[in-house]
Amino acid sequence: MSLLVVGTTALDSIKTPYAENPRLLGGSASHAAVAASFFAPTHLVGAVGEDFPRKYINLYRRHGLCLEGLDQLPGQTFHWSGEYEVNMNNRRTLDTVLGVIENYSPTLPAAYTRLPYLLLANIAPDLQGHVLSQMKRPKFVVADTMDLWLNIARPAVLKLLKRIDCLVLNDSEAAQLVEEDNIVAALPRIHKLGPKYVIVKKGEHGAILSGPKGLFVAPAYPLKKVVDPTGAGDSFVGGLMGYLASQKGSLDKNLRAAIIHGTVTASYCCEDFGLKKTTKVKKTDISKRVRELTKMVSW
Ligand code: AMP
Repeated sequence: MSLLVVGTTALDSIKTPYAENPRLLGGSASHAAVAASFFAPTHLVGAVGEDFPRKYINLYRRHGLCLEGLDQLPGQTFHWSGEYEVNMNNRRTLDTVLGVIENYSPTLPAAYTRLPYLLLANIAPDLQGHVLSQMKRPKFVVADTMDLWLNIARPAVLKLLKRIDCLVLNDSEAAQLVEEDNIVAALPRIHKLGPKYVIVKKGEHGAILSGPKGLFVAPAYPLKKVVDPTGAGDSFVGGLMGYLASQKGSLDKNLRAAIIHGTVTASYCCEDFGLKKTTKVKKTDISKRVRELTKMVSW
């Protein structure tokens, strides 16, 4: 089955202690949709400006993304710049320029409104809600968010949480959302806000799923070298949703495997800047790492 991804289609300028890369292809929707495309037909909704390089549109095309919902608007593409410390778990946003997404309010192509899987990747919560309102009875709706939206648009995030099946967020955002630092204690409080499933990302320490069947704890794929973790969270949720869309049978049964597939897809994202490594990966590489990770956690 098919998947719709909405989020940012961005240019990212990323600084690590070892290198600096300006104006790379980035954005929550770019990372998530490319990751999902390994598993299922993926449709992209987003907006880019006049400065968005043609080569990045071609990259989307090479990944088979349906681009009918990608608007090119007068103005500047969303631009994010960030800097990592030596410990790559610590990142600082240097600048966010909303550009063309500031007043963006997409009308979905008619065919998109009937897609069964919807990923509301990180973008303004009102915009996520606006896209969700146009969908006709989607089977599974997942949303991601970030500290910025919890700071400046908390009521809109809370409104959205009542309308989705699953929330994906990182540990510090979970703590911020319910003012509880202990993740295990935070989870039931997040469920009370709406979502039946909650997935907390813990970077190099993996992810925790909480749902009606209890907790599932997954490690990250162990990497010797992390070059740039930007987009890993988006690749994780994209891979997870793509995998889910590709599977038959019960959601509860497939979600655990989906987390492992999302984890492995995200591991490639960390191995080079932006989408450089992910775009070189083949489905067989992902399957191989999934087998390795499965072996590492079996006992
Ligand atoms: P992640 O590393 O998974 O948190 O995602 C990083 C990606 O999120 C980058 O490619 C950015 O372009 C994008 N991003 C940064 N800030 C925002 C924001 N406020 N809303 C949506 N996407 C963002």
